[in-house]
Amino acid sequence: MTRHEDVRSLTEAEPAGTSEHHLRLLATSDLHAAILPYDYAAGREAGCFGLARTATLVAKARAEAPGACLLVDNGDFLQGTPLSDLHMASDNAGRHPVIAAMNRLGYDAGTLGNHEFNFGLDALRGALEQAMFPVLCANALTRRGGTVSEDSTLLPPSLLIDRQMTGENGTAYRLRIGILGLLPPQIMTWDRFHLDRRITARDMVETAAARVPMLRAQGADLVLLLAHTGIETGPARAEMENAALALARLPGVDALVAGHSHEVFPRRGTAEDRTGLDHESGTFHGTPAVMPGFRGSHLGVIDLRLARHAGGWRITGHSSEARPVKPEDGRPPIPADPAIAASVRRAHDATLSRMRAPLGQTAQPIHSYLSQIRSDLPVQLVAEAQREAIRKALADGPHSGLPVISATAPFQTGGRAGPDAYTDIPAGPLTLRSALDLQPFPNTLCALWLTGAELSDWLERAVSCFCRIRPGQKDQPLWDARFPGHAADTVTGLSYQIDLTRPALYDDKGTPRTGASFAETSMPRGRIRGLSYRGRPVLAEDRFVMAVNNYRAFGGGPYPALPEDRLIHSAGQPVRDVLADFLRHGGHEELPTVPVWTFLPVPGATAVFETGPGLRNHPEEFDALDVTDLGTTAEGFLRLRLPLFSTACESVV
Ligand code: MN
Ligand code: MG
Repeated sequence: MTRHEDVRSLTEAEPAGTSEHHLRLLATSDLHAAILPYDYAAGREAGCFGLARTATLVAKARAEAPGACLLVDNGDFLQGTPLSDLHMASDNAGRHPVIAAMNRLGYDAGTLGNHEFNFGLDALRGALEQAMFPVLCANALTRRGGTVSEDSTLLPPSLLIDRQMTGENGTAYRLRIGILGLLPPQIMTWDRFHLDRRITARDMVETAAARVPMLRAQGADLVLLLAHTGIETGPARAEMENAALALARLPGVDALVAGHSHEVFPRRGTAEDRTGLDHESGTFHGTPAVMPGFRGSHLGVIDLRLARHAGGWRITGHSSEARPVKPEDGRPPIPADPAIAASVRRAHDATLSRMRAPLGQTAQPIHSYLSQIRSDLPVQLVAEAQREAIRKALADGPHSGLPVISATAPFQTGGRAGPDAYTDIPAGPLTLRSALDLQPFPNTLCALWLTGAELSDWLERAVSCFCRIRPGQKDQPLWDARFPGHAADTVTGLSYQIDLTRPALYDDKGTPRTGASFAETSMPRGRIRGLSYRGRPVLAEDRFVMAVNNYRAFGGGPYPALPEDRLIHSAGQPVRDVLADFLRHGGHEELPTVPVWTFLPVPGATAVFETGPGLRNHPEEFDALDVTDLGTTAEGFLRLRLPLFSTACESVV
């Protein structure tokens, strides 16, 4: 056996002679429809993920504890690659490839993640009908009751598995395992177009606090939470998006699978400053827990040692681990399970041929290596596609007189997805794959109206992602790593400069850093300079229509949720389709050539920025920006030195 036992709790707490009783939980989370180890946006095999590889780890873990395993999935399994997304967004007929692979692997239960709602309730129902395992969700409700027990849930809230288990020395014993599924109530914001007036959501902790005792009362010996939620430290609040720590503290919870944030837990030997997380014992506040990464990168394994007592079972020892498909010691990745790979092969081939359909041609390469630090082509393409679609949609309507601008951020900027996770489309044909590369999420197109003051505030939030730069200092970090790349909007149709010597007004959650809140009619005083529309300065009382995606429309990341009446368009059209149309009609050939924004020069200053090493294949960029290659980091990112003392860092777009 290769389990990392929690030696202390085993030796101290385990009575002799009971070690043959145990339960092994195997868990995946955030699969995001990654079945084959294949990167659809890049069009190449991928070494570090894919359920077909994780399946090999499942088989091994099952063989180590035959007769005592449960396999569960923790949500966000149906969205994320064209293998599933094209299926869900089309007629949704036929065999769903992700469900087929999961059926084959023999899951005992699953729960919904937030992304399961991206294609609407009908598409979700159609997919789930094919699942041969129960899919749970206790807090997505078709009707909210006065109390949790009076709620009408969209799916079964929980499950009681009553199973004959076999211990290590052949002992048979019966276990009743209660499983409860939970997801962030923020689905009602993120997928409001699909869900508004159809379902509602209840707080995860409130739901679990009521339902765990109900499961016990139904006879559960053990209770497992499938919680599609990550880790947030600090005091528990109502409607938390990341409530895993609060859930782990609830009485009666024996083990917990968390996720949503795509983190890996436990990581032995990790220095951890978040209270409640213990990587050595694999617990959240003492409760055995696991977070299995994403796209099948890891298999979560929780082992519970059990002893019988008068009222049922007692846990006498436990261990948790996250087993990677790509070993960290440099050994080759775990091979794919041939049966799982074969179960999606036909759907995969069909997906590839759909993605190769040509849309148009690009004369210049389109890459996102520099999209965080300049007004850049990939961002402008998506923004202009959104802008044109909104102009058409609102023509002749009550808002047709207002200027239309468009906000979007780069989506492929490394981060947790690694140094290869950048858009890099060569000059030549553009295909559906290019559109997917530029717009990897199934976001939908919306439009808001807002004032000049609100717009200025929006931009202050966007540019808060940059670190403050001091004149005269060398090699200062440029990007505040707390901000993901996709938090930083560029708003096309406007022109503005960014003064990096000023402090950021907001943090990554949109909380004012320096008491920066301002009256609705006044312009915030931050980093944005020279804000203008068609050469005319933007005034606080001006009005604009802004094309955005559904995440932004209802407030997301550092951005505010504007009043309800500001949403003037939301028809559920995927931005990816809008972009594919734009490319098909040659919109990319007629983009404005002036950059939307530039940094104001900072005398004597240079900055350091990390990007993908693929930038080295674009040597012309090094000259254009006058950047220096500082080598590769331990994680494989390319470090760049960027001069800020001149305007050489102005965009090429
Ligand atoms: Mn996810
Ligand atoms: Mg999620």
